[in-house]
Amino acid sequence: MSIPDFDLVILGAGPAGCTLALKLAPLGIRIAIFEKDIFPREKICGDALSGKVMNILKRLPGDAYADFLRDVKKVPSRGIRFVAPNLKVADIPFSLHDTPEQPAPGYICTRRNFDTFLFDRLSAYSNIEIFQGEKAIRAEQVDDGIQVYSETRRVQGRLLAGADGAHSLVRKFMHPEVAGKKHFCVGIRAYFDQVTNLHPENFIELIFLKTLLPGYFWIFPSAGGRVNAGLGLRQDKLPGRKENMSALFLRLIKNDPFLAPRFKNASQISKTESHILPLGTYHLRRSGNRTLLLGDAAFLVDPFSGEGIGNAMASGEIAADIFLQCFNAGLFTDTLLQNYDLRIHRRFSNEFKTSAMMQKLANSSLLFNFVVNKARKSNEIRNMLTAMFSNEDLRKSLVRPGFYLKGMGRGVWSDE
Ligand SMILES: Cc1cc2nc3c(=O)[nH]c(=O)nc-3n(C[C@H](O)[C@H](O)[C@H](O)COP(=O)(O)OP(=O)(O)OC[C@H]3O[C@@H](n4cnc5c(N)ncnc54)[C@H](O)[C@@H]3O)c2cc1C
Repeated sequence: MSIPDFDLVILGAGPAGCTLALKLAPLGIRIAIFEKDIFPREKICGDALSGKVMNILKRLPGDAYADFLRDVKKVPSRGIRFVAPNLKVADIPFSLHDTPEQPAPGYICTRRNFDTFLFDRLSAYSNIEIFQGEKAIRAEQVDDGIQVYSETRRVQGRLLAGADGAHSLVRKFMHPEVAGKKHFCVGIRAYFDQVTNLHPENFIELIFLKTLLPGYFWIFPSAGGRVNAGLGLRQDKLPGRKENMSALFLRLIKNDPFLAPRFKNASQISKTESHILPLGTYHLRRSGNRTLLLGDAAFLVDPFSGEGIGNAMASGEIAADIFLQCFNAGLFTDTLLQNYDLRIHRRFSNEFKTSAMMQKLANSSLLFNFVVNKARKSNEIRNMLTAMFSNEDLRKSLVRPGFYLKGMGRGVWSDE
């Protein structure tokens, strides 16, 4: 029996896999996608889409950004509300140039809606074959490609993309060793109705309760007056806790002095569910054996914010470039694929280093209280923090002690 043959086999039709397929399909690359679930499907997430996601949508073929703005149910979000351990609040807009007439810099959109939007766009291309509801169970290198098996079929690709999420089969195939717990975060979330005191412009809310540092509780406003509320903690911080995360989450909602009044009349309208986030602090080779790892499979979640959707899509764009170089050259060597590691390093390493430092700093409630107190009182500091969302060099300065000392010299950190 002949084995169906493709240029590229992709495991996983989340944001990483779909972005990769949408970039390559218009160029005639023959693609097979295995997706274990059937769309529309749920994905445990906070549902916050950053400006990074919007920028990548703008670069996808076929007016994806305009279609997203027009067709997808979502709420616009224009900034972040930080709640410091002393429960003081600072509101930081995402952009200094944002106006209500413009599309928002970010959105909150359930993953059921966002991922289905991306997935549905694959059907525009007859050169993409999708095996939905088929979990890939094995990948094997052969002389002239990679063979992938599900329970019911086997296909062969010249190249393979592991976009199969946090528990990636492809990553286990490339790297049987397991990363340490400090490189994972555990996130838990549920949807609620009737939570009170939300920001009027849907700022997403990060609540740094002292007992959770450097993790945080989040409240993200969602469509239909609902909220996505959750809790993220580094996995190595868990064992010391006497209660499990689900119990901790419910206890905070019921008893925490900041949260309880806001959830007093709220009703929970979904199950409480958890999932892991592989953090960008872990270093691994993301290329080799005719294969690239993308998104969560490649440990690309921001270590401070937990943002992973934009990074997953960015890795899909970079992987598309590298695979194309291979197809054009007719070469599938590790040397050529290693350019992916270089590009990922260039794209993310500074950002992740800064975020890892911020994660460390967030351990100090004193410093957190200090920055939020000052941001409450000073326009200059609020504007500076806003600029940091879009400027990596500025963000880097936040983790240098000199930044605070210099600011004091210039009076930036003194009270108005
Ligand atoms: C609680 C929580 C909150 C989060 N909040 C946010 C947030 O607000 N904003 C943000 O940007 N990020 C957030 N993240 C991170 C974000 O969810 C991920 O980084 C993002 O989904 C990664 O995209 P991906 O395409 O790499 O993987 P995924 O979205 O996980 O997609 C992988 C796909 O592969 C499929 N698959 C898996 N194994 C197989 C297999 N063997 N065969 C076939 N198919 C397979 C899965 O069904 C899935 O569809 C959060 C994560 C968690 C857990």
